[in-house]
Amino acid sequence: MEYEAVIGLEVHIQLLTKTKIFCGCSTDFGAPPNTHVCPVCMGMPGVLPVLNKKVVEYAIKLGLALGCDINKFSRFARKNYFYPDLPKGYQISQFELPILENGGVEIYINGEYKRVALERIHMEEDAGKTVHRPDGSYVDYNRAGVPLLEIVSRPVMHTPQEAGEYLRSLRKIVRYLCICDGNMEEGSLRCDANVSVRPRGETKLGTKTELKNMNSFKHVEKALEYEIERQIEVLEDGGRIEQQTRLWDEKQGITKPMRSKEESFEYRYFPEPDLVPLMIDDSWIGKLRDEIPELPRKKLERFVSEYGIKEEDARILTDEKELADYFEEAAKGYKNPQAIANWILSELLGYLNKENKEIKNTVVKPSQIVELVELVDGGTINGKIAKSVFKDMYKTGKNPKDIVNDKGLVQITDRSALEGIVEDVVKNNPKAVEQYKSGKKNTIGFFVGQVMKATKGKANPKLVNEILVQKLGE
Ligand SMILES: [Zn+2]
Repeated sequence: MEYEAVIGLEVHIQLLTKTKIFCGCSTDFGAPPNTHVCPVCMGMPGVLPVLNKKVVEYAIKLGLALGCDINKFSRFARKNYFYPDLPKGYQISQFELPILENGGVEIYINGEYKRVALERIHMEEDAGKTVHRPDGSYVDYNRAGVPLLEIVSRPVMHTPQEAGEYLRSLRKIVRYLCICDGNMEEGSLRCDANVSVRPRGETKLGTKTELKNMNSFKHVEKALEYEIERQIEVLEDGGRIEQQTRLWDEKQGITKPMRSKEESFEYRYFPEPDLVPLMIDDSWIGKLRDEIPELPRKKLERFVSEYGIKEEDARILTDEKELADYFEEAAKGYKNPQAIANWILSELLGYLNKENKEIKNTVVKPSQIVELVELVDGGTINGKIAKSVFKDMYKTGKNPKDIVNDKGLVQITDRSALEGIVEDVVKNNPKAVEQYKSGKKNTIGFFVGQVMKATKGKANPKLVNEILVQKLGE
């Protein structure tokens, strides 16, 4: 029997506000434990939460970017459960009236666009962090009260790859909007996955399991792959899927049961009495709409139409807003945007990726890429020399023209000078000449190599080829 998987994702993003959602404490990551706390986020008796306006603005911006319905009237709710890292004994979240509903995330998979429908997005506060050590368990409340948006997709994805693309697209958008840094390792983007399988053609959903503890896109995909296989095996053996929460074990590459249905929580949601309902008016939404930057898909299409670069290149260049801005600054200044794109994608990103660095960390300026491409296009240096010049630029931040002048790298295009060198090479390699004349035309590569060696790579390759063909033909 053929099976189909059904996947829905719940993503928590940590918002880039300076302060927490209901108090003025800092949201900075990595501070010593319990230094960013106050009576409000420690859940002391008698304190009152005050909603951070920025959190609402970020939520509305995301809603606008994803085409969600923005509820003009929404309400916070208490989600009750006990855990040491939750000082109040409840989490302030939203339940029956979330700020955003519907909308979708566009993903690009197997050469086409697909829209993954959303169910809802709501605001809530984060819990603290429990740290278990051999000498005991500790709790750090720095994270308690840090603002989150929970983005709940509908169960409409069918492969781990779709789930991975969904996460990448969502991350790209929240980074473009500057509302979340999308750093999965530091936990500012977290993902839980609901997955079930059913015979292909069946419309009823199978029993799902919930997967937790995946801290990279790769692990989400791997965990889903494993879990789908596991569920299919259980069903094939005539068993039944138990509804449960399972943890991804990265080292073993398997999912393990954490708690089953009987132990699952009953949260006893009720409207938060300490906060008034939230009212949003159109003028506020309009103002925020004006602040939304050009989003990745639009930018990609514009790069293709405006600069005439390849679509797959535009896709990579628009992955990060900083990279897109970098390309655009360079491309604006020169008539050959595709060459600019090539240098950024192959050389600059190549070096940056090798060192695990981001575009903002490079000393190479967009104008220097333009200068380098001009040197190549104008015939001052050849492509091979340009690569070594780039390496120098990347290390030192020097201008390509200065590097070329200081090192004397200007291309040799003087025909008579090159003819002399070619003649020497031909004279010194009689065996290769014989081979060439006996029909092994690809021996020419060897001669070109010899000429390049003699000129320290500076000869104009096209001219060398021309002269070689002529001399070897004599
Ligand atoms: Zn606080």
